[in-house]
Amino acid sequence: MAHDSSMLDGTIASIDAAVRSLGLEDDMRQVLVEPWREIQVGLPVRMDDGKVRVFHGYRSQHNAARGPYKGGIRYHPNADLDHTRALGMLMTWKTALADVPFGGAKGGVIVDPRKLSTSELNRLTRRYTMSMHHVLGVNRDIPAPDLGTNAQTMAWIMDAYGSIHGHTPGIVTGKPIELGGSLGRAEAPGRGAAVIGCRAIVDSGSTPGASTVAVQGFGAVGASAARTLFDDGAKIIAVSDVDGAILNTSGLDIPALERLVSEGGTVSDYADADALDNDALLLLDCDVLIPAAIEDVISVQNASDVRAGIIVEGANRPITSDADEILVEAGINIIPDILANAGGVVASYFEWAQNVQVFNWELERVNRELDKKMNEAYDVTKARADKNGSSMRKAAFDVAVSRVAETIKIRSYVG
Ligand code: NAD
Repeated sequence: MAHDSSMLDGTIASIDAAVRSLGLEDDMRQVLVEPWREIQVGLPVRMDDGKVRVFHGYRSQHNAARGPYKGGIRYHPNADLDHTRALGMLMTWKTALADVPFGGAKGGVIVDPRKLSTSELNRLTRRYTMSMHHVLGVNRDIPAPDLGTNAQTMAWIMDAYGSIHGHTPGIVTGKPIELGGSLGRAEAPGRGAAVIGCRAIVDSGSTPGASTVAVQGFGAVGASAARTLFDDGAKIIAVSDVDGAILNTSGLDIPALERLVSEGGTVSDYADADALDNDALLLLDCDVLIPAAIEDVISVQNASDVRAGIIVEGANRPITSDADEILVEAGINIIPDILANAGGVVASYFEWAQNVQVFNWELERVNRELDKKMNEAYDVTKARADKNGSSMRKAAFDVAVSRVAETIKIRSYVG
């Protein structure tokens, strides 16, 4: 069976390619590839049955040349150190490409959060925060939600951190509005992906109104991307969640689907569509495919069968490096994760800025500034791709790596 290289290998390969095309020296490469600090902790938690379980938790602080470390915390059975490190690296390039004043980091706890009660998750999150608080801070490292964590998790972190350092809303982003969260933050990664998707559609000579779209994953990113593209006139023909996929070539009613899911349903409960095999969604004949669920869903096993013209990476690393080569060779325009889903960290930056200034923005301002940042990131990436005749992923990494390398040089960071 063909085998794809690991997510960490793939991420480092993208950095290496940028190092080569930018003509950076090997000394700089080492500084760019190595995480600047990593913490590994054992997290003893008293479970509801009275027994103690020790969970493994990580924070990989990859690079802070451009500002405080920034990145989510993932609760997932696969959230080991290698995985966390790869995701932390991606954050460095994402913040640099979006041109927000942060570095990159990621946190992880090896746990299936669905198997813990709310009070167990609360205790686990507080233990994690207490074990990490000395390396976190408004100007040091600012976590956010990721897979398996949410606004409630951020509220627990803020509360635990505040019990030592005093009331500090800016210590996390993606928190509840009542605690200083930002309007529009939850929808931002999906909205940003849609903004970028529309740009790619227009550059392909079409319009959103004439385009068909398939979206894998109907969570925070997928549902918001689908909704924004639906509002822009695109025909969303298929969506999926972990339980199944649905197809209607005449177009799905996305607001109705959103209502259904918010009331506790799954996408398969939607009546006006045919059931579809979950994996088949990725191979549909459509203009735009948005994988917005998990990693590695397009691999060497299925890459040759993908028929979309444009792929917008709503999720982080949904395409393995080996599959990426096959898709680029086939002429598919891939909008890479560090560009496509950067709306999340851009809105996190706005949330942090509001917290630091103790001044809340209206939704209209958040969305206007988000769209501006996303368009700027698209412009700089597209211009570089056109100039060098490269893929959008290659161009995005070139821009991001050159920005981080430049800052490292100006700081004279190397001791
Ligand atoms: P989420 O948990 O809100 O939603 C995930 C969705 O994917 C759910 O609908 C789930 O049912 C579905 N799903 C899971 N496995 C699936 C499978 N095998 N097939 C089809 N659907 C499946 O998560 P999210 O916040 O939307 O994150 C999705 C991806 O986007 C992740 O890779 C995450 O790292 C990335 N991301 C999230 C943000 C953010 O701020 N939320 C920002 C940037 C990137």
